[in-house]
Amino acid sequence: MSRQQAIVVGGGVHGASVFYHLLSLGLERVLLVERKSLACAATGRSTGIIRHHYSHEVTVRVARYSSRVFSRFPETMGRDIGYVNNGLVFLAPARRRAPCGGAWSSSAASAWTRASSTPRA
Ligand SMILES: Cc1cc2nc3c(=O)[nH]c(=O)nc-3n(C[C@H](O)[C@H](O)[C@H](O)COP(=O)(O)OP(=O)(O)OC[C@H]3O[C@@H](n4cnc5c(N)ncnc54)[C@H](O)[C@@H]3O)c2cc1C
Repeated sequence: MSRQQAIVVGGGVHGASVFYHLLSLGLERVLLVERKSLACAATGRSTGIIRHHYSHEVTVRVARYSSRVFSRFPETMGRDIGYVNNGLVFLAPARRRAPCGGAWSSSAASAWTRASSTPRA
C-alpha cells in the first residue's frame, strides 16, 4: 500500500469517479478501498435523476459535468447505460408553492449563475 500514488476511500459514485479521473490523469498506482462492496450505500439506492438546480455552486458544477459524462458514456466507457435527457419537473401542493418558488429557487438560480460565469470544471 505504501507504493500507491493515491488511495481513494469509498466505492460509491464519488470514489469511483475520483479513481477513474486519477487514472485518466496518468497515475498508474491508485488503490480504491471499499469496506463493503461497490455502490453498497447511497449510490446503489439512487433514483438516477440528474438535475442541475442546486443551491450550492460546487454541486451545480459536479452535476453539469456529470451530465456531460453520462451523455458521452457509450463513446468513453464503451457501454450504453440507457441515459435519457428528458427534463425534470418539480410539483408542489399550492400551500407550499411560495417557499419553494422563493428562497429555494433564488439560491439555486444564484448557484447556477456563478457556475455558468466561470470556465468549465
Ligand atoms: C434513496 C436515494 C435516492 C437518491 N436519488 C438520487 C437521484 O435521483 N439523483 C441524485 O443525483 N442523487 C440521488 N441520491 C443521492 C446520491 O445517491 C448520493 O449523493 C451519492 O450516491 C453519494 O455518493 P458517494 O460516493 O458520495 O457516497 P456513497 O454512495 O454513500 O458511497 C460511500 C462509500 O464509502 C464507503 N465507506 C465509507 N467509509 C469507509 C471507510 N472508512 N473505508 C472504506 N469504505 C468506506 C461506503 O461503504 C460506501 O460504499 C439518492 C440517495 C438516496 C439514498
